[in-house]
Parts: sequence; structure tokens; C-alpha cells
Amino acid sequence: MYDCVIIGAGHNGLVCAHQLAKQGWKVLILERRDLVGGACVTEALWPGFKVSTASYLISLLLPEIEQEMELARFGYRVLPRNPSSFTPVLEGPSLLLGPDLKQNQEQIAQFSRHDAEQFPRYEAMLEQIAACLEPALMQTPPDLLPLPDSWRSVGFGKKLRDTKTAWQLHRSLKRLGETIPEAIELLTGAALPILDRWFESDILKAALATDAIIGTFQPPSAPGTAYVLLHHVMGSAGGARGVWGYVEGGMGALSQAMAASAREAGVEIRTGVSVDEILINGQQTTGLRLSTGETIATRSVASNADAHVTFEKLIPAGTLPQNFETAVSRIDYSSASMKINVAVSELPDFTCLPGNTEPGPQHRGTIHIGATCEEIERAYDDAKYGSPSQKPIIEMTIPTAVDSTLAPPGQHILSLFVQYAPYQLKDGNWDEIKEDFADRCLQRIADFAPNVPASVLHRQVLSPLDLERTFGLTGGNIFQGAMPAHQLYNLRPVPGWSDYRTPIKGVYLCGSAAHPGGGVMGACGRNAARELLRDGKP
Ligand SMILES: Cc1cc2nc3c(=O)[nH]c(=O)nc-3n(C[C@H](O)[C@H](O)[C@H](O)COP(=O)(O)OP(=O)(O)OC[C@H]3O[C@@H](n4cnc5c(N)ncnc54)[C@H](O)[C@@H]3O)c2cc1C
Repeated sequence: MYDCVIIGAGHNGLVCAHQLAKQGWKVLILERRDLVGGACVTEALWPGFKVSTASYLISLLLPEIEQEMELARFGYRVLPRNPSSFTPVLEGPSLLLGPDLKQNQEQIAQFSRHDAEQFPRYEAMLEQIAACLEPALMQTPPDLLPLPDSWRSVGFGKKLRDTKTAWQLHRSLKRLGETIPEAIELLTGAALPILDRWFESDILKAALATDAIIGTFQPPSAPGTAYVLLHHVMGSAGGARGVWGYVEGGMGALSQAMAASAREAGVEIRTGVSVDEILINGQQTTGLRLSTGETIATRSVASNADAHVTFEKLIPAGTLPQNFETAVSRIDYSSASMKINVAVSELPDFTCLPGNTEPGPQHRGTIHIGATCEEIERAYDDAKYGSPSQKPIIEMTIPTAVDSTLAPPGQHILSLFVQYAPYQLKDGNWDEIKEDFADRCLQRIADFAPNVPASVLHRQVLSPLDLERTFGLTGGNIFQGAMPAHQLYNLRPVPGWSDYRTPIKGVYLCGSAAHPGGGVMGACGRNAARELLRDGKP
């Protein structure tokens, strides 16, 4: 009999397990894949190549987790991404942005003196707001809505805690002072009008706007995208706030370090085992049934799978209250992201910096391929009607430009995060069209670096359907559920149930389906463990 069985060894499941085991709980993790890490993995796809198949950069990981799990002792190391971004252009100067404010201003001044002056103020504004909101990442969101008892009956203890948390949030927001209206716009509004107010040069706005659409099926002109902008300047795992980094050995090195730390704390991890059902007697869990038919007895279950998988696949229909089931069925999983991993024999040689195939600044950051604000909007328009973008928006990173452990000498990995590739297609299916779409993406890169298509040695194309099949992400949504304002904080996963508990006693959520959502952050797992511990050993 376990105290807790965790469904899924995503990084959040590993964090949650570690926290529980440290308090003397008997914990088992069951992972359906053959390796731990969920969407935070490194896989040896081709001889000599180690690829971060899904997530590829780190920033959001809580420093508390790094220390508590002693991740450095287990081999976790971050290589800073410097510069942070490179935007090549076909004619005229390109844009290189990094941690040095003065250099950024010089770069931006190539396009607009006004923008060069504005940039430090814009960054300071984002940082101030992010710093005030960041403590909320580690909170269990308070229930702020007057939902009736028929929705959820809440005891006095929780009401008291919620009042205290709401007060802490209020105090934190107070630090925003006169920027509160700006913060509200960032939390709920669209990225583009904000960028339009700050800046005039399209290349800068487009470079910043791509951060606002990562993982969302929205254009930068749509409400909700500004929050994604903010989400990306949170965290300091890359060395400083908003600085993103590469994990040495690929993202899986982080998950491996977490798994080693969890094992040392006493956690048992089984991979290659899929949970088919959460067993329930009355309104209380009693255990789990695996796809092999084996049953495992446990006093509590924490699910690292998303809300659709947990509540609509693993719990028999009709078990949960009707209003809860309906709320879960309304969760938005819309997605238009695709990942293409490519092994190449040489680095991209950009026409704007010709003759450079040795690692240089243009290869070390995130490379924005071919985006103007209008192109991003038009790329979305195609997808809105069910077709992959004619001119896809591509974020390319080359981890091998900073990490020599990932590929044979002289060879490299191109990691392409591509939008918009709608999960729901109007015509055809992803298995039929994905290779053609990947060709289109490589051709798009060739506009800026013509040597790329001929340098391809191997490639892996992960359509939204593949992301769903491989990583268990419903609809291919990379965040285990979209992150518009109505699916954040106390509304995530559904209103009234943002404290990691569920209507079934002993069943919890511990993954990014819960607050604070997607990204390699660990906060969902850590917060969930705190609530499990609060409820006490079952
Ligand atoms: C293509 C892509 C690129 C991304 N890029 C970045 C990035 O660069 N930086 C960043 O911070 N974030 C990025 N993200 C988001 C980030 O990777 C995720 O938000 C994060 O990894 C989610 O972690 P998790 O532990 O909550 O869940 P997951 O990683 O989704 O883990 C859930 C686990 O549960 C397992 N599981 C599900 N059902 C069952 C079952 N029935 N039985 C047993 N096991 C089960 C799954 O196999 C999986 O291992 C990216 C995501 C994707 C897909």
C-alpha cells in the first residue's frame, strides 16, 4: 500500500514525488513512456545525436526546487543563452538582442532611435510586473468566486487560508503602484497593441511578439497573448530574470537529475507502465489499474496527466459531479504548435552574415525566421481556417552551438518550434501532410540561410497529433491546456478547483494542467505536494 502514486513522470510529477518522500511518504511514480521527463526529455534519436525532443530552453524552473532537490549534485547545469535572439533579414541590417542593455540599444537604433530609447523602459516595466506577480506562482490560488455549495462545499479552514492568500496577493499587487492598469492589460489583453504603443519598428515588435504566441493558437492581436509575453520574462533559471538558457545534455538532463534526487529520497519509479483507471470506492480513491490489468493499492493519487486524460479517461464517466464534468469538458486545448528536430552537417550560413559556419552569436540565441507582425497575423489567418500556415513562424535554436555533448564534432542540431500548425485540419490528416509541411519550413529557413536543406542528415517531425500521441498532451497543447485569462490562476483547471484537489477524495492534480500552468517550472508539482501534505498522510 502506497501513501501516494503519481501518474506520470513529467518534471512536475518528479518534483511532487520528491517533496512527499522527503516527508516520509511511500511514493511510486508510474510513467507510460520508457523514460522519465514528459515534455522535458533528451532522446538519442540518431547515432551520436542527443535531442531535446519537446521543450528546449529553461528559465522558469523555481530556484527553490533546484536547491531542495540538489539538482547540481545530480548533474544539472545551465548554459546561458547569449545573445537571446537573432532576427535575420533579407535586406538591410539584422537584429541581435541579448543581456547587455547598451548593445541592445545600439542594435535597435539601426531601425529606430525612438525604440532604442524606449527599450530599457519597456524591459523595466515587464520586469517590475513579473517580479510582483512571481510570488503567485508558488501560491495555491485562493477561491475568489462566490460559487454555490452545490459546486463545492468548502470548509472554514480553506476559507481562512484563501482569505490569507488573497491578502498576500493584494499586498504583492500593491507594489505595482501606478502600473496596475498596465499589469492588468498584460494579464488579460493582446500583445500587439501594447507593443504598438511602445515601439515603431516592425522587426523589433515582431521579435518580441513571437514570445507572445509560443504555444498559443492566437495571433498577437488577440486578447490573452500579452500574458504569454509576461510568462516568458518570469523565472531566472538562465542566470538572471527573463534570461533563458540551455540545459547541458539537453532538457532531459534536468529530468534525469530530478529522478535521481527523487530516487535518493526513496521514490520508486516504474517506466513503460500506463495507468488505465483510477479506482474509486464511493467518493474516495482506493488504487489504480494498469493497462496490463495489474492493480496497485494506494491511499492517494496525484495525476501529472492533463485534466482531460485524468477526468475523462482515467475516471469512469458519471463518477464525478455533473457540474465538474461539464466544466472539464469546456477546457480549451486548442493548439497549433509543431516541433521539428533536425540533424545537420554544418551550421546555417545566413545571407546577412555570409561565410559564417563556425558557431557565432547568430547561432547561440533563438533565431526568429522571417517574421514581420503582418506575417505572424497572416500565418494565423491560414490556421484559423484549418490550414497550416503558408509562411510558418519559426523559432530556431541550435543547442549544439553552445553544448558540445549533443552531436558528433562539426555536426549540429536545429530545433524548430513552428507555428501555426492547427491540430484540427480542414483537409487531410497530419500523418499525410506533415513531411510536406516540414519541407515548407526548411525552405522558409533557406530564404535566410540557403545551405540548410542540403545539410540535413536526419529529421524528426512532430505534428500536433504526434505531440498528443507521444507526450499525452491533449490536442497537442504544449501547456496541458491553453493559458488565456479564463484558464489561469484560480480558474485553472476549472473554477473552484484550483487548489490541486478534485471532487474525489485522495485524487489530486500535480502537473501543468493546474496553476501556474505550462513551462518547465516545477511549481505545479511543488504546490500540489504542499496541499497533499496539508491534508496529511491518508
Ligand atoms: C514541443 C514543446 C516545446 C516546449 N518548449 C518549452 C521550452 O522551451 N521551455 C519551457 O519551459 N517549456 C516548454 N514547453 C512546455 C513544457 O515542456 C511543459 O509545460 C512541461 O514539460 C509540462 O510538464 P508536466 O510535468 O506538467 O507534464 P508533462 O511533461 O506533460 O508530463 C506528463 C507525464 O504524464 C505521463 N502520462 C500521461 N498519462 C499517463 C498514464 N495514463 N499513465 C502513465 N503516465 C501517463 C506522460 O507520458 C508524461 O510523461 C514545451 C512543450 C512542448 C510540447
